[in-house]
Amino acid sequence: MKSLRNFLPFFCCMSLISCAQAPTAQHTHSEPIKIIKTEPNTTTSPNPLQTTHIISEAEFSACLDTFSAKAKTAGISATTINRSLRKAKLNTKVIELDRKQPEFTTSFADYFNRRVTNQRVDQGRALLVKHADLLKRIEQQYGVPAPYLLAFWGLETNYGSFFGNIPVVDSLATLACDARRSNFFTIELINALRILDAGDIAPDKMIGSWAGAMGHVQFMPSSFLQNAVDYDGDHKRDLWNSTPDALASAAHFLQSLGWQAEERWGREVKLPDSFPFLEAGLKNNKPISEWIKLGVKRADNSPLPQANINASLLVPSGHQGPAFLAYDNFNVIMRWNRSEFYAIAVGQLADQIAGAGKLIQSPPEDAPRLHRDQVMFLQAQLNEKGFNTGTPDGILGPGTRRAIGEFQHQQGMIADGFPSKKVLALLGINVDKP
Ligand code: CA
Repeated sequence: MKSLRNFLPFFCCMSLISCAQAPTAQHTHSEPIKIIKTEPNTTTSPNPLQTTHIISEAEFSACLDTFSAKAKTAGISATTINRSLRKAKLNTKVIELDRKQPEFTTSFADYFNRRVTNQRVDQGRALLVKHADLLKRIEQQYGVPAPYLLAFWGLETNYGSFFGNIPVVDSLATLACDARRSNFFTIELINALRILDAGDIAPDKMIGSWAGAMGHVQFMPSSFLQNAVDYDGDHKRDLWNSTPDALASAAHFLQSLGWQAEERWGREVKLPDSFPFLEAGLKNNKPISEWIKLGVKRADNSPLPQANINASLLVPSGHQGPAFLAYDNFNVIMRWNRSEFYAIAVGQLADQIAGAGKLIQSPPEDAPRLHRDQVMFLQAQLNEKGFNTGTPDGILGPGTRRAIGEFQHQQGMIADGFPSKKVLALLGINVDKP
């Protein structure tokens, strides 16, 4: 889980038009991971392999020769090599998107309000009715309740309305031939060829995001090979054109990632005025009974259930925003996409599709928007004062939030780890004058 995170500095998106979308990864059998995209404020350090060289057509052609030999060794048929890999086209736009770093942090309010919309909730509720029988069968087989499947579907492709439109072999061959993340994309390219060899999809129909994520639920080829199922019985795993195949495959994947059938994702909660915010953060996982002792209640102020499960407490907008308890399934969602914002959005969208109301505490919308350089400056200032953020990388990740919390604690402030205007001012950053 840890290594790929450092290897894949990604950022968000729902559309190739407005922003970049990055890949899904799959690890070993014991530790499967799928990373489709990670949010700008939760990624780790920039990749040292990043280069500025954009390969030429001649270099790409030579690279295809090398990969053709590799594909042959990997057992890919000559037909697939000649019809697909040999005809791959260099797409330099894909390389540009892969290297693009987000300039500004994204606030939780911005992220959440763009994704968990009334339209998306309404459409999810309609699809819940439309596909009720199918979803019931899938839940019985894989243990993932329908509202969660709809939430993933809604967040990944707006329920199948946008799959990406780049030939997957083009994007993966381009990224495999580019130096920056060649090893990762070489594996995905070979796996994409395996899918074509198996006959699940015609080569010209295998389209995806710029990073090769495919179909209704945006599987990378490795995730496809391990988790895609033929659920409509036509002997093809068609994640582009078959809703049963796509939803059952998503459920199968979540099951393999460790989904707990009887548990929720987590829930919005209410904290007492005196809450010790240094307890917040995904790494501080403890029994719900401990949170109850600290005064945590449901968001409607009723008592939390006395369930025998562990949870972490999250305050993505600081103490003035909503608070959440994250249960085991929250971590499963983060194995699909390593982003706390994404996992909260999945959970909330699922709850609302199932009939729940909106967040009781809305996230404040005036959170400072920080330029990458300002975050690096913030990190350097904290390091200088003895609050370790690691090597400044311009990304507001868990380590930086922890250091901010410790700095706040020293200053006698509420230690929620949130870079409020007051914290920034104390560290010499004026967000009104970027
Ligand atoms: Ca099928």
